[in-house]
Amino acid sequence: MNRPIETPAQQQLIATDVEAWHALSAEQVLERLGVNEQAGLDAAQVQARLARSGFNRLPESSRRPAWRRFLLQFHNILIYVLLGSAVITAILQHVWDTAVILAVVVANAIIGYIQEGKAEKAMDAIREMLAPRATVIRAGERLGIAGDELVPGDIVLLEAGDKVPADLRLLHANRLQVQEAILTGESAPVEKHTEPVHPQAPLGDRACMAFSGTLVTCGQATGIVVATATSAEIGRISNLLADVESLTTPLIQQMDAFARWLTLLILLIAGLLLVYGHFVGHYVFADIFMVVVGMAVAAIPEGLPAVLTITLAVGVRAMARRNAIIRRLPAIETLGSVSVICTDKTGTLTRNEMMVVSVVTHDLTFTVDGAGYQPSGNMNLADQLIDTAHHPTLVELGRAASLCNDARLRLHEETWKVEGDPMEGALQVFGAKAGIDGDEERGTWARTDAIPFDAKHRFMATLHHNHDRQAVVYVKGAPEQVLAMCKQQRGNDGTTAPLDADYWHTQANLIASKGQRVLALAVRSVPPEQVILEFADVQGSLTLLGLVGMIDPPRPETIQAIKQCQTAGIAVKMITGDHAGTASAIGRQIGLHNPDEVLTGADLDTLDDATLKESLKRVNIFARTSPEHKLRLVTLLQSNGMTVAMTGDGVNDAPALKRADAGIAMGGKGSEAAKEAADVVLADDNFASIVAAVREGRTVYDNIKKVLSWTLPTNAGETMTLIVALLFGLTLPVTAIQILWINLITAITLGIALAFEPTEDNTMRRPPRSRQEPLISGALVWHMVLVSLLFLCGVYGIFSYALDRGYPVELARTLAVNTLVVMEIFHLFFIRNLYGTSLTWKAIRGTKVVWATVAVVTVAQFAITYAPPLQAVFATQAVPFIDGLLIIGVGIALFAIIEIEKQLRLRLTESDRQP
Ligand code: ADP
Ligand code: MG
Repeated sequence: MNRPIETPAQQQLIATDVEAWHALSAEQVLERLGVNEQAGLDAAQVQARLARSGFNRLPESSRRPAWRRFLLQFHNILIYVLLGSAVITAILQHVWDTAVILAVVVANAIIGYIQEGKAEKAMDAIREMLAPRATVIRAGERLGIAGDELVPGDIVLLEAGDKVPADLRLLHANRLQVQEAILTGESAPVEKHTEPVHPQAPLGDRACMAFSGTLVTCGQATGIVVATATSAEIGRISNLLADVESLTTPLIQQMDAFARWLTLLILLIAGLLLVYGHFVGHYVFADIFMVVVGMAVAAIPEGLPAVLTITLAVGVRAMARRNAIIRRLPAIETLGSVSVICTDKTGTLTRNEMMVVSVVTHDLTFTVDGAGYQPSGNMNLADQLIDTAHHPTLVELGRAASLCNDARLRLHEETWKVEGDPMEGALQVFGAKAGIDGDEERGTWARTDAIPFDAKHRFMATLHHNHDRQAVVYVKGAPEQVLAMCKQQRGNDGTTAPLDADYWHTQANLIASKGQRVLALAVRSVPPEQVILEFADVQGSLTLLGLVGMIDPPRPETIQAIKQCQTAGIAVKMITGDHAGTASAIGRQIGLHNPDEVLTGADLDTLDDATLKESLKRVNIFARTSPEHKLRLVTLLQSNGMTVAMTGDGVNDAPALKRADAGIAMGGKGSEAAKEAADVVLADDNFASIVAAVREGRTVYDNIKKVLSWTLPTNAGETMTLIVALLFGLTLPVTAIQILWINLITAITLGIALAFEPTEDNTMRRPPRSRQEPLISGALVWHMVLVSLLFLCGVYGIFSYALDRGYPVELARTLAVNTLVVMEIFHLFFIRNLYGTSLTWKAIRGTKVVWATVAVVTVAQFAITYAPPLQAVFATQAVPFIDGLLIIGVGIALFAIIEIEKQLRLRLTESDRQP
């Protein structure tokens, strides 16, 4: 093509931002934007326009600048307390104490800042993965592209469930309805057409426009992009709808609130201790003040919220790596407690790579060979190759299959690919094998109108005209549906005969029982004047052409994933729009329990809630369901006390997805409407990814629990050490400065390791956790008591041993400090395996993160124990080698005691379960 890409006049026009496109006719708009509707833009034009209009992206909602994020780290009660203490110690001229407090505060802020940055990065990555896509016509071809690559003049195809990717002037609209609530606040969908409207019409009345960000609720349309990015109407809304919420969940909020209350309580107790120590215990104010500050720091779980946030962020990332993109964070927690997964069949359990393998006409059954979507292969009859020319009905079936179809085949680097629905792609391939040239047929038989496919009515119809003033309607759909719309059937040589419904039903069941998806195709001639297709035109007057059966093999990983669910106590239910026979056959292939019992949509309608609730405990396959049935099934399963994960892809699935505890939308074949309603989007539409997400969900919950089970007892142990000394007037076994060090540096560093804990081996062998299960359970409280007592014994034990041997008090304290840290490390190794034994090679080998944190802490401990300048700051002394061994011995003893206690407890609960 060597015509100029765009004339200057056109460039001028395209550049004008504000244009009353809605007042122009479709032809005028096409002309002004310099586009041919059939061809769309070519690559060079797209390049040129992209350079001018930029990417179709809205600017990110304003970010907190880095310096503010850093300063916010100081906005925290504990830090205020510490800063206050720094001032007081400065006034008391304890310069070293002031310096240490300030250093600790800054170090703490830096750790928090880095952690938060990591968490935000994880969320950003996810936002990118959720970017919408658009279907366009470019250089005469139908293509799926990223929504942000759209430029003014692009021809965009819309269908039910799509999110409009840019502001479009509609060129064709077929029963199009759009929900424009985000722009107009009106939640009822509005009907669209293509007639120009008054230039001053308000936004809600511009019926020939579809605006960026609104949702197509039904129908189909073609439109031309007139405005992108911020020039689009949505660009005027200032505060943008963030697709992913900030990094918090109900559980984390609870923990935050808990931490805040705990802090207040501790400060209160600290105040009382200060008064008690000064007036009753007669300590010098400066000394008691530092001790009380140390006590408060030890007790307040300051690192907790940050570590929990990190745990979530790690979980979000792990799930994204397994192709499950979290849209709403609370889903991480619910996924971990899922007890039933309701899943689609097509594309989720199966590959959604379809191929027509059998064809039934009124008297013959053909088989079809071929590979993938390559449009060539043989038709056979009783294993004999046939010539399609001898079977006119077969050719007519092929024509119906290729015209009543929205998909196209495309050769992409030697392999044939489908643009559009894979099932329709398979039908195009079948048409080609039957000797039909799709492009040629579409040229001769132009489509004038259509009734798009809808999961509710399960058929699709198209109206075609040729140049000889002939008009014909083709219908394809579920056999029960199409048969009910037929009166006749096609016989040999184009004759028609009355419909033999029994024959067809038997044939359909036969194909379905092999696990094939069955589709019926029918035809009807109409008068040439007719250019509008109504439901009435296809009711009861069609001529059946035949049936086709398609294979769609299960995904290889499905069977394994279903087994995993079964051992993890998670029920799996298949809810499909497909034929009962097909559903049951696939169910058997993938190993669902009880695959022979199937409830159809019609059955569901006759059952009352109570009966259905009972059946739900048994039945795992639901066929010929419509989206409303999904909602009812979710509700009833929930009333059985189950936590439900439900998948969906269509527009009408939104209510069920919202209602489910974890709504899961398909990222590939799913509509934008389903994605908006979902908590999780699957990047690969794969059932196995749901199971992987559940596993990650359980891991995240376990890790949150581990963080708590490690942090709270450690804090309690340290606090008790100080309180006991204060109350009984003993020499402090650790000084305030030392406690600050232990708590703010070593404890936070070690705690982070737990956020990165991998999944425990038996994670998917445990039954799902009850959602009522409190995070801080009786068992955790008991563990806190046990561990803090052991910490107390360890610290005071080593301290009095040291004093007995006549060590100076500084050395005794150094021993105590190191003992505390060693006990923390051993406790960490214990907590890593909450549900199993910690004495396996794998457990001891640990993870990189664990050993990295342990290494950091060990080096730091050696530094404050042996480096003279730090010895001066922390008032420590070099520990003799033999005492170092003793300290490690104390750690081992602690580990042995709590491990034995855990093993006894696990055995007990085990024998409880099997009386
Ligand atoms: P599934 O639950 O397997 O995804 P769908 O709801 O997509 O099932 O489809 C239900 C039935 O509707 C299919 O078994 C098929 O008979 C029919 N069907 C699906 N897609 C189309 C289409 N594009 N045109 C006509 N009929 C269709
Ligand atoms: Mg479907």
